[in-house]
Amino acid sequence: MLVTPHLFIPGPTNVPEAVRRAMDIRQEDMRSPEFPKFTLPLFEDLKKAFKLTNGRVFIYPASGTGAWESAITNTLNTGDKVLMSRFGQFSLLWVDMAQRLGLNVQVLDEEWGTGVPVEKYAEILAADKGHEIKAVFVTQNETATGVTSDVAGVRKALNDAKHPALLFVDGVSSVGSIDMRMEEWGVDCCVSGSQKGFMLPTGLGILAVSNKALEANKSGKMPRCFFSFEDMIKNNDLGYFPYTPATPHLRGLRASLDMLFAEGLDNVFARHHRLAEGVRRAVNAWGLKLCAKEPKWYSDTVSAILVPEGVDSAQVVKTGYYRYNTSFGVGLNKVAGKVFRIGHLGALDEVMVGGALFAAEMALRDCGVNLVPGSGTGAAAEYFRETTKASATSRPELKLAS
Ligand SMILES: *Cc1c(COP(=O)(O)O)cnc(C)c1O
Repeated sequence: MLVTPHLFIPGPTNVPEAVRRAMDIRQEDMRSPEFPKFTLPLFEDLKKAFKLTNGRVFIYPASGTGAWESAITNTLNTGDKVLMSRFGQFSLLWVDMAQRLGLNVQVLDEEWGTGVPVEKYAEILAADKGHEIKAVFVTQNETATGVTSDVAGVRKALNDAKHPALLFVDGVSSVGSIDMRMEEWGVDCCVSGSQKGFMLPTGLGILAVSNKALEANKSGKMPRCFFSFEDMIKNNDLGYFPYTPATPHLRGLRASLDMLFAEGLDNVFARHHRLAEGVRRAVNAWGLKLCAKEPKWYSDTVSAILVPEGVDSAQVVKTGYYRYNTSFGVGLNKVAGKVFRIGHLGALDEVMVGGALFAAEMALRDCGVNLVPGSGTGAAAEYFRETTKASATSRPELKLAS
């Protein structure tokens, strides 16, 4: 049967029609005299998605992992002391990368289901009178456990300690879906990628940097080549790249930014919050719990849902895939077999979330979870009905979504 598979993993996310059409282009001459007319405004507009007015953005033909590496190798030195925390597969992998690149990492291991320990960061920074710590890392949204951390709180800890360390944020599964205020929060390097909030296929590593990070780049001596800021800046300033850019992705990014700005970033964040809340109502109605330990950690882009003892969450995901043509995220590493994840970010509305919950409900029951049929989907539907602001007689946004 030729049916579209239903994709509810936390990236890659669903690519809207407008973005797909924008990417369906002839290959173009990336050194043409016309190309900068497209790229220079794209660089400026991309900064707006990070709420950054100074600094700059770098777009690599890579993925989020490449942007992680770019941030580290361009601004730090081998042996530099950095402060990181680990509470899920993505924060864990960033620590691993920092260690493999030769940084001296002070790692705080936190319980999975919690996030960045802001108070511990504050104590450590206050005690670091000699300013040994060169950078502080925050995974804003831990995609493995559905936990969002307090970036503003870490900025406050740095300010309170009058600490000059750089602030690095992983925003791969949050930028474009959850608020990121690079300038206000004094974020120096913010990592993202194309296939989550930006609603594109995988293929771009995106890194937004402050002027302070650009200054650090000048004194940083770590070997760098493919990700080199210097090479990028020299070419980007003229609207070009040091090597062949992923031009269809750039065209898609233009369309994606246009969609985000037409909806309005605040409306985009509110939509994500409301859809996530619908999922949380469903989880509660099923009698299940999130991996995120407390409401302050709840993520608006992904929910990691704990299955009852004796049930294998991998089986739930497999059942969704084979029986209901629906993909959910599996549990990774420490939470393998214990959680399954519903990605609710990007191009998504209530009916799509309803479909995800419908499939999850069936797969959970198939795997022996004794929930009341219709309980989760019903709770979400009622929440969406009660909170909708849409008019029953007009749809002004239809022309935007075409
Ligand atoms: C997806 C993800 C990554 C890895 O990005 P890739 O594009 O797969 O390289 C890193 N951090 C977080 C928080 C993610 O969600």
